[in-house]
Parts: sequence; C-alpha cells; structure tokens
Amino acid sequence: MTDFCATQGLLTLEQALAQISDNLPENNAYERLSLKNSLNRITFTDITSGINIPSFRNSSMDGYALQSHDQQKDTLKVVGTSWAGKPFTRAVNEGECIRIFTGAYVPDDCDCVVMQENVSRIEETIKISAWPKQEENIRNIADDTQKGQVLLTKGKQLKPADIGLLAACGIADVAVYKAITVGFFSTGDELVSMGSQLKLGQIFDSNRYTLHALLTEAGVTPVDMGVIPDNPSAVEAALLSASRDCDVIITTGGVSVGEADFITDVLEKIGTVDLWKIAIKPGKPLVFGHIDKAAFFGLPGNPVSVMVTFQQIVIPALQKMMGYKKLQQAVTLQARTTETIKKQPGRIEFQRGLVENNKGELIVRSTGGQGSHMLSSMSKANCLIVLDQTSGDVEKGQYVSIQLLGKNI
Ligand code: AMP
Ligand code: MG
Repeated sequence: MTDFCATQGLLTLEQALAQISDNLPENNAYERLSLKNSLNRITFTDITSGINIPSFRNSSMDGYALQSHDQQKDTLKVVGTSWAGKPFTRAVNEGECIRIFTGAYVPDDCDCVVMQENVSRIEETIKISAWPKQEENIRNIADDTQKGQVLLTKGKQLKPADIGLLAACGIADVAVYKAITVGFFSTGDELVSMGSQLKLGQIFDSNRYTLHALLTEAGVTPVDMGVIPDNPSAVEAALLSASRDCDVIITTGGVSVGEADFITDVLEKIGTVDLWKIAIKPGKPLVFGHIDKAAFFGLPGNPVSVMVTFQQIVIPALQKMMGYKKLQQAVTLQARTTETIKKQPGRIEFQRGLVENNKGELIVRSTGGQGSHMLSSMSKANCLIVLDQTSGDVEKGQYVSIQLLGKNI
C-alpha cells in the first residue's frame, strides 16, 4: 500500500539534492597550509611536480651494480661502494662492479644490480650465481612521477599518501579551500543541558553532541550555539547572529507543523525558504533556505532523523561548499537480509542494520527498534539498509542495498 499522505507534495531525495546543490553559495576563499596541517583539506588548485621522481637512477636492492654484458666473466672486481646519500661517481670499467645499497645512485656505467643473495664475495672480488638481466633492480628516472606532471587536481581531499607525495616532490605548503564554518543550535523547551537534574517532561539535548561529532568528522569548523527555547524571537536572534559569522547554519527541531514549530516562519521572515519536505524516512520535515549569504538547514528534532538527514542531505552540500570536485559517497553494497523488513512504498527509507560476512556472503539484520528517537539502535548499527521509494516489504533472504556507516555517521 502506498503511503500517499507521505508522498503528496514531497520532493524525492534526488530532487532535493539537485535543488540544494544549485542553490549553494560559492566558496572561493583559500589559505596556504604547511603539509603537516593539511590532512583532509581540499586542494584549491592543481598541483604539479617541479622534479622527476626518482631524480636519479638508483638501486632497489642491496647488492652489486655492474655491466650485464660482463656475464661471461667468472669473477668481477669490486672497485668501490655507492651508499644511499653517498654516491659513487667514478668510472666502473669492464670486469668491475661496485657494492651498492637500496636507494643509492647507480653510476651510468652500470646497467643492472645483482642482489647480494646471489653473490659470493671473496675479499675484493665477487662470483655471481644468478646473473641479473639488463635494467634489473634499477629504478629509473621519473618512473614514479615526471617533472611538470599534475600530482593532484583541484578539489581533491588530501590523504596521507597525497601529503607524502607532495613531500617527496619538495612541496612544503599547499593552497587549500578555506574551512567552512557551521553554526548549529538545538531548539526545544524540553531540552536540558547536561549537568542539570531532569524534571518531568525534560530530556537531555543529544543532537548538539551528535552534530558536533558529525561536523568535526566532516572537516568543517563547528560553532556550537547552545540550546534555544521555542520562542520565535529567540530563534530569530540566534539565526541572525549565526548568519553574520557562519557559512552554514544547522538547527534541529521545530520544523514539523506543530504549534511550537516555527523555524519555517522565522526563516520566511528573515531569509528564504527553498524547500521543506522530502520523501525520506526518517527525516521528512526538513527545511533548506538562506539567511543572507549563509545556507540554512533546519533538521528534524528526532536524533536518528538528524543523523540520517545529515548524512544524506547535509554532507553532499557541505562537501560541495568545501570545494570537493567529486563528492565522497557512502560505500553501497548488496547484502542478504536475515529477516523480513517492513516498509511502506512512498518514501526512501534508511533502516539501521548490522552487516556481517557469513562465509563470503554479506548478511544483514536489523539492530532493533526503528523509531526515529531510538539512538541506541543507531549506535549498534554498522550500516544503513536503503530501501527505495517505491519498495514495499522485503522478504527474508532477499538482497538489499546497504550503506556502510563510518565517516560522517
Ligand atoms: P521536534 O522536531 O521539535 O518536534 O522534535 C521531535 C522530537 O525530537 C521530540 O521528541 C523532541 O523532544 C526530540 N528532540 C528535539 N530536539 C532534540 C535534541 N536536541 N536532543 C534530543 N532530542 C530532541
Ligand atoms: Mg521541538
């Protein structure tokens, strides 16, 4: 049975993402950071190498460098040593070789290196049991990276290997997109900050802690603005203040149609509302808009809805504003469900699951209650089971799509 009430007038997740993406402010600001401070930041320009790597022919083994055409000779005379950092630069003539170590310069006279395991040495001569081929055990100039080559393209997140690659090229600092600042606050008269005694009807504010963790993991600068009561003028003042200092504002709660839900009204007064209902479960009521230059996301209040809408909707937007050329998507796999999954057609649904490898096959089961207030089942989950908008119940033993949880949720 289609959940018609739920679908009428709602945007699909894809439509919402496309509309949001088209309406995000540009980020053209950058800063230069030393390599050590640049992990996970996004490159602002293409970065090219000023040198070849390797910049000189060097040995990939400890052994002896020699001329391969000397094969018919019974023994070779050792005339010197090339150490890593202390090159041997004199001539190596016919019938001669040099001791060499990994990473050491290979003189132009030599065209191969024999590994030391294939050599017996008697004083200053060697006898070779297995002759190397021409070029064997030699790392050639530029076989890793060529001078002038683009090492990293604009919009790439810097991972440890990228930082090592830049260091290998002698690049000490890097232009990255300026980190975006995200101000966030919780709304709700029932919310109490930790440290106080709960009275009847009150709950601890968990969303701000989850959001702080999600934003930190996403690589933006979080600005925690606390809890704001269900009072339009307090919400308005907080939003205006956030819009002056932040690139993005995120609130939780107050976006459904209850009497205490006035985020949309306030937004209409001081900014623009671009859309506000999406066919996604959990998370249907969600507001996107702008206040001056700041992008605004009004997420639902329920803790699991916050996490799911953050990952599915806010993260792609943040990544675009952060400068990512290619958005990082959650890894999606197919897994066999160990139980029947209940689902009404009408909205794309993200259920909390636990996936495991069962003798080479991925199997997934629910982590329990799927109420959008139940953070415990989110905490137990290692994946989200993704059920299409049109899908109904899924029988036990069927394959379902799962998104691995990890970074960002
Ligand atoms: P709302 O969207 O404001 O109607 O809130 C929906 C549900 O989420 C209610 O049960 C709220 O008590 C709960 N909720 C709202 N904000 C928070 C928060 N910051 N931490 C934990 N639960 C919240
Ligand atoms: Mg509320």
